[in-house]
Amino acid sequence: MREKLLLIPGPSPVHPRIIHSLAQPTVSHVGPEMVEELGQALENLKRIVFCEKGEAFLIAGAGTLAMEMAILNTLASGEKALILSQGYFGNRMAEICRSFGLDHDLLESPWGTAVLPDELDRRLMNNDYKVVVATHVDTATGTCAPVHEYAEILKKQEAIFILDGVCATGGIEERMDDWGIDVVLTAAQKCFGVPPGLAVLVLSERALAKRKAMPRIPAYYSDLLRWLPIMKDPTKYFSTPCVNEVRAFYESTLIILEEGLEERFGRHSRTARALRSGLEALGFTFFTQKEFLAATLSVVNYPPGVEDKRFRSSYYESGVVVAGGLAETAGRVFRMGHMGNLSSSQVYFALDALEQTLKTIGYGFEQGSGRRAARAILGD
Ligand code: PMP
Repeated sequence: MREKLLLIPGPSPVHPRIIHSLAQPTVSHVGPEMVEELGQALENLKRIVFCEKGEAFLIAGAGTLAMEMAILNTLASGEKALILSQGYFGNRMAEICRSFGLDHDLLESPWGTAVLPDELDRRLMNNDYKVVVATHVDTATGTCAPVHEYAEILKKQEAIFILDGVCATGGIEERMDDWGIDVVLTAAQKCFGVPPGLAVLVLSERALAKRKAMPRIPAYYSDLLRWLPIMKDPTKYFSTPCVNEVRAFYESTLIILEEGLEERFGRHSRTARALRSGLEALGFTFFTQKEFLAATLSVVNYPPGVEDKRFRSSYYESGVVVAGGLAETAGRVFRMGHMGNLSSSQVYFALDALEQTLKTIGYGFEQGSGRRAARAILGD
């Protein structure tokens, strides 16, 4: 079967260098290769989120495990968290809190927007939150939160600031030290472009000190203090790491640093603008309000006459996989991821295949307008 271009909101397309590293023989999880590559991957990861001190963790699992680990290791029983939610995954963090009986307030924004910094400020005035959680980009709504502004407000507080960067880290700037973010959590399959399989976390010294001050937490595998010795010295054992996946992640960090962080963030925003401009030229509009559009994915409204299932299966036949809407947006939108190691030629391929799809389903448009609009931005 011809390989499809995976433009769902994660997993993202996997670079041949990463595929190649996955194909290497499995090595001992406590052997020299792991000492070298896990150690380097953690160092590189810290550079990617601009965290000089702190500690990084790579654990077999996925983004939801990273969410669970972040909250369990920083919110003590009897303390209260504030969860800012602009969609599906902020609400998931609240569900995690409920599952563990952790006290929390949920501050939600309407879908397509994010909680405004002023609202956060007001909420903090009369409450004593020990942890504040935000989602950088919500994958269901395509909204990017004003994280830097949240962080500025939180600088005046003692609360630990957790950022769910699952759909952002490595593609959109997140400066832990400078901005004052205490935990960045993510997963391998989004902006790192690695197949799913890793929970990824970076904790500031302050966040780690908080964990150390908590005598017990309701976790075993998710207890970061059990993992810390392994991250510092991979010859030690706690639970068998997914060796090949760690090596692939290491390769992804090399690709990111070789590209350069500023260049990579710039490329993500250029790619987003190019794709959106192509989509607009073909008659599509966006679900997310303009000021909250994310560089990593787009939630695209169907114009009248375009039916979700037919559109997506035809796009698939043309070589591109996109996702449907979640919850209230199901059937009304499709979601297109544009994160990781996406090249300009993949962007053009996606737009050409989109034109082919629209032709197949009998939707009128000006031929070549998608590609032309994207070229005006990408310039190559
Ligand atoms: N947070 C966000 C923002 C996400 O987009 C996702 C996954 N789409 C998750 C958390 C959960 O990650 P996973 O599916 O890897 O468990």
